[in-house]
Amino acid sequence: MKDKHIIEVFKKTPRPKVIILGGMHGNEISGIDAIQKSIHLLKNSKSLLQGTIYFLKGNVGALAKKERFLDKDLNRLWQDQYIFNDDNSANELKELKELYDLIVNKICQNNFDDCYFLDLHTFSAQSGIFCIPAGNKKSLDLAASFHIPFIEKLAESLPGTAITYLGNKGMTGVVLEGGTHNTPEATENLVAGILHFLAQIKVIDNHCAAVKNAKIKLQNEGKKYPYHLELTYRHELADSSKFKMKDGYFNFKQIRQNEILAQEYNKNISSPDNGFMLMPLYQKKGSDGFFIVKEIKDIYQKEKSENLQKN
Ligand SMILES: [Zn+2]
Repeated sequence: MKDKHIIEVFKKTPRPKVIILGGMHGNEISGIDAIQKSIHLLKNSKSLLQGTIYFLKGNVGALAKKERFLDKDLNRLWQDQYIFNDDNSANELKELKELYDLIVNKICQNNFDDCYFLDLHTFSAQSGIFCIPAGNKKSLDLAASFHIPFIEKLAESLPGTAITYLGNKGMTGVVLEGGTHNTPEATENLVAGILHFLAQIKVIDNHCAAVKNAKIKLQNEGKKYPYHLELTYRHELADSSKFKMKDGYFNFKQIRQNEILAQEYNKNISSPDNGFMLMPLYQKKGSDGFFIVKEIKDIYQKEKSENLQKN
């Protein structure tokens, strides 16, 4: 299978199908770097147990220019209305149809029961690492196994993300937000995430040294932050050029109700609730100013979460 979105394929058995995608946003080079490093690691080990792993790049046109997107945000277009029409006037509408055809028809062959998806991202804020499960139980259990913060109700709140679209088809999927754009730390976190993900779904050997180190790395990162969270507020932007986040916010910084967080159209934007800050926008392009999340105390505990994966 030749395709401009395919970086590398590792095949042991036809199924399960595993898709690891970097560069859905063209300014997030760490995802591609992490994929290259993971490919190198897999080539030099005999750890592949089963399945076929597809390493993909998302927005090829935007990656070439290191821009978040050229015309439209590719990760807001995953809806039937954009996939099933003939409008290719924007670069991303073309990329979307190509990726849909590759992932849904060619790789998964419209059978998603044993298809797994890891979508690699980074953010403009300082510090933090977290993941976002697709809206089904298997994805939630998989997200919990990373031992880093995992956030419910976030994917569903964002219209047109690949994780929501493919999750609704029955795929098991997680978005991994590895760290600040184009930092060595983000790349290392994403490599650790890729190895943990592949081991957790039993596609590579759990016992190899690289996987053990990856799990320790994720656990150490996770210790700095709350664990199980849910979205309570999303500050959507009509025009990101009219929005200015106040300095000093970072992922999982505690915030109080009525605290002034940003300026928009020269008016103060204050927090509607207590909680933790997530993804404050410190870049020009973006459709969300910030999110607020709250901790949930429930059955998910870090020590036990890996056992929950056993279906
Ligand atoms: Zn992204």
